[in-house]
Amino acid sequence: MSTGPGDAPGPAPAMVRAVLALGSNLGERADTLASAVADLVDNDAVRLRHTSPVVTTKPVGGPAGQPDFLNMVIEVETSLDPYALLAHCNAVEAKHQRMREVRWAARTLDVDIITYGGLESSDERLTLPHPRAAQRAFVLYPWSLMDATATLDGIPVAALAARAEDMAGIEHFSGGTETL
Ligand code: ATP
Ligand code: CA
Ligand code: CA
Repeated sequence: MSTGPGDAPGPAPAMVRAVLALGSNLGERADTLASAVADLVDNDAVRLRHTSPVVTTKPVGGPAGQPDFLNMVIEVETSLDPYALLAHCNAVEAKHQRMREVRWAARTLDVDIITYGGLESSDERLTLPHPRAAQRAFVLYPWSLMDATATLDGIPVAALAARAEDMAGIEHFSGGTETL
């Protein structure tokens, strides 16, 4: 193959598959999720592979009396390194007016990295796989719908979802416009 002006020097960076979890419980939740997915893949280094259905879930932890969440997961393929992917996710949250004042408080948008290839990291800034994902049906259940073969820590995500405490509060979101 020829190389010429405009060609990237060296081999193309390896693409890694990552699973991202999105949640919203403030504002126009469905619109926010749809626009956040578009923003996440509006980057030459991020390609969308799969999206899950959207589910409604009861808030887990945080201040009482919060509205229900809409949650979904997506699988992307990316050449961003894990920290650059986290910064990208945080930038998309910021674009959607995400505030961080009280832990697990209601939010317009949360984007977590659930897995990044098979990478394991226990760094506080970026723990992979996400340290609470294996207990969260609001992540595991839509993930199982997106990818019936997915596993986390060697266990099928559908099995993990079935035993998660918050599974009982999950419903399929039927779409449409909404006002909270
Ligand atoms: P939870 O982490 O329980 O889902 P949260 O999403 O509400 O709670 P945030 O305030 O969004 O928490 O993030 C807190 C910190 O978590 C961030 O500063 C980020 O650096 C760190 N973090 C560690 N691992 C991850 C990960 N896998 N994905 C996203 N953020 C992570
Ligand atoms: Ca989160
Ligand atoms: Ca987060």
